[in-house]
Amino acid sequence: MDDGTPSIWVTCPACGDQRLRPSALHITVYSHGRNVYRFFCHQCADEVVKPVPQETCELLLEAGVEYNEVHVPAEVLEHPPAHVPPISPDDVLEFILELRQMRPASSLDAAGS
Ligand SMILES: [Zn+2]
Repeated sequence: MDDGTPSIWVTCPACGDQRLRPSALHITVYSHGRNVYRFFCHQCADEVVKPVPQETCELLLEAGVEYNEVHVPAEVLEHPPAHVPPISPDDVLEFILELRQMRPASSLDAAGS
């Protein structure tokens, strides 16, 4: 693979290090900054996906690795405060009962309940 085309060292968890041409890799650039690169291992054919730091990502893009961009909505990254307990089955049942109490009288008649 020494024809002047740049090559990139990658590591398959099962097979170890190997050199690939930039066209054998693909980067997904996420709007929240956690980018990944992926390739198919030449030995086991598994797809390997690994996080790629921003600086390395820029170098790979300069080397000609193709990429796509994915916008991640802010809601996906939201987390409840640490002091808020997880939702329990009792919480769900209580919510269902509250929803039933909010039903308009006309829908109760139609449902026969
Ligand atoms: Zn492999």
